Amino acid sequence: AEEFLRKIDRLAAVGHLAAGVAHEIRNPVTSIKGFVQLLKQDHGKQEYFDIMLAEFQQLENILREFVFLTQERSSSYEQVSVGTILDNVMAHLQEKSLHHKIKIDLTGEQEIIIWCDPTQIRQLFINILSNSIEAMPNGGMIQVSVLPEGHDKVMIRIVDEGCGMSEERLKRLGEPFYSTKEKGTGLGLMISYKIMEYHQGYIHFSSEPQQGTTVEVVFPLDKVRSAT
Ligand code: ADP
Ligand code: MG
Repeated sequence: AEEFLRKIDRLAAVGHLAAGVAHEIRNPVTSIKGFVQLLKQDHGKQEYFDIMLAEFQQLENILREFVFLTQERSSSYEQVSVGTILDNVMAHLQEKSLHHKIKIDLTGEQEIIIWCDPTQIRQLFINILSNSIEAMPNGGMIQVSVLPEGHDKVMIRIVDEGCGMSEERLKRLGEPFYSTKEKGTGLGLMISYKIMEYHQGYIHFSSEPQQGTTVEVVFPLDKVRSAT
């Protein structure tokens, strides 16, 4: 019965999210439809295409993140060093950070091994670092450090010099569709919290408006590593 109730809970949660996704998708679809109608009457308007492409991009973002949220817990766990994941994430974000005039500085014990689904953890750091980059419209520095926590945990700390957040905003992090950005999906952190729940770790945010934000991602270290 408990199993059944959990399934019902899960279905209710997914249904609730689906309703939200449908709502979020309606705006870009309505906009694209309008511009296609305009194009039909008025050929050659280059800016219509730009608007439509931006709306398609938004649709793609919402759908990609939604598909991720509906997935069950992954079974493709492996042992991988934090550095391997972070190098990959940096490569992925290179263009975006260059464009925003941001330097990402990586320090600490990157050889530490965690037991994880590397695709999910890569996505988690991409989500968090993207937010930091987007919080720094005038460029600057992001510090990423890998720090052992006792002998059974590892913390990855991300410090940005961005716009920061008020107490109220901090409380709302992880809420579905909560975004302060014009082109935000408001799903990035919800996904990140879910990924860390799957990995039996946690994320902690602290922030000061106009000063910046610190994100701490903590993983338990697996038994294999502590035995060696
Ligand atoms: P999105 O990036 O699509 O808006 P997220 O779930 O990634 O959605 O983030 C939700 C909100 O949390 C953002 O819109 C922003 O207001 C706030 N936020 C997250 N990270 C930071 C950060 N590093 N600095 C300032 N605000 C942040
Ligand atoms: Mg985001």
